[in-house]
Order: sequence, then structure tokens, then C-alpha cells
Amino acid sequence: MVNWLAEMVEEVQERFPRSTAARRAVIEAVLGKEGHFSAEEMCQEMRGVGRATVYRTLAALQEQGLVCRVLLEDGELRYRRSPESHHHHVVCVVCGQVQDITGCGVDDFVQAIAARFGYSVAGHRLEIYGRCGRCKSL
Ligand SMILES: [Zn+2]
Ligand SMILES: [Zn+2]
Ligand SMILES: [Zn+2]
Repeated sequence: MVNWLAEMVEEVQERFPRSTAARRAVIEAVLGKEGHFSAEEMCQEMRGVGRATVYRTLAALQEQGLVCRVLLEDGELRYRRSPESHHHHVVCVVCGQVQDITGCGVDDFVQAIAARFGYSVAGHRLEIYGRCGRCKSL
């Protein structure tokens, strides 16, 4: 395992006291992933680890802001290592590449819409779909 990953797994592990070896294995696999993946794919990769453990660990990592979810154009929800707490994504509809967009930029808009309908905001999601630089010219 590369160093930064080992250190990160160690650090993350400390946030989950009484962590089992199975959970540790899931944390390691998730944080080591470059691209996005579905919970189902992670279950298949983690042979010998119960599905409930995989799902619970993903949920816990998401709660900690270490993993985010990307909504693909076809409605599929994928998981991904998260660089920071609140952010948005640009998704290429051809090759599936995902880019994180740091900073929000739509907060005022969201607040205004919520106020208009008498809502208090619990959260929002914004994904931008398009063709990436490489796929644009195909
Ligand atoms: Zn993200
Ligand atoms: Zn692309
Ligand atoms: Zn936002």
C-alpha cells in the first residue's frame, strides 16, 4: 500500500472506534479508488465481507465527508473519494470522467427558491453533464 493511503486509512480508522478488520478492508479499498464505483461493485470486490458492512461503511465515510456521491446522467448513483465537504461535479456523459468543482456558487439561488416556497434548506445537489475536452472532438 502506498504511504499516503496507509496514513489516511490509519487516520480514518481512528474516527471509527471498535472498527473490525472487515470494515478496515472496506475503508482501504474505498480510499484507494481513483474513479467512481457503485456500492454493488464494492460488494463484489470485497469478497468475504458482508454486504451490510460495505453499505454501512460507505454511509459512515460519506457522513464524514470522505466519500461523496455522484449522480450520473442515467440516474445511477456512484461513490467517489471526496476531496472536501460540499462541492459539485462535472460529469462527462461519454467516458464517465468526473471532475470535482470546489466552491458552491448556487447558494443564493437555493436560498431564494427555498424562501419562495417556505422551505428551510437541508441540502442541494448540482451535477453538470457534458462532454469532456477529449470526448468533445470525437
Ligand atoms: Zn465529489
Ligand atoms: Zn469524456
Ligand atoms: Zn452547492
